[in-house]
Amino acid sequence: MTLSVQLVSPERILFEGEAQIVVARTIGGGDIAFETGHAPFLGALQVWPVVLRDETGTETRIASHGGFVQVADDRVIILSDVAELGPDIDVTRAQAALARAESALDTDADDAAATAALQRARTRLEVAGAA
Ligand code: ATP
Repeated sequence: MTLSVQLVSPERILFEGEAQIVVARTIGGGDIAFETGHAPFLGALQVWPVVLRDETGTETRIASHGGFVQVADDRVIILSDVAELGPDIDVTRAQAALARAESALDTDADDAAATAALQRARTRLEVAGAA
């Protein structure tokens, strides 16, 4: 038995596949691991990698920049306006975004936009394996 997983943006299905376990970081709920038979669940996602692991231990990582996760009947639906799979991530662009955000935060440590940009860049680099 596996979970069927869909990553959906408002425009399209970004990813569809099967997983033994899905780990996502929710706002207020921390990291949650979903396996088959999980109770119905709806939660808001942090800007953080979502990790899918299959029965061989192979991982698929998704940079999910917020959105929601819904679990029901062994189906996991991740709804996200902005999300990327590892191979789709432009590492140079994410490194540049990281450097910009760090420099903005050096000037103003309370810059909320830079704090958010930093977290997006870190999540992308982590998912791309370049962190
Ligand atoms: P940047 O400053 O580089 O534009 P950003 O965090 O401001 O980064 P977003 O507003 O989160 O970018 O995303 C805008 C669009 O660009 C989205 O479609 C997102 O998937 C894509 N995107 C952003 N950064 C990357 C990246 N490093 N690799 C691939 N796609 C990216």
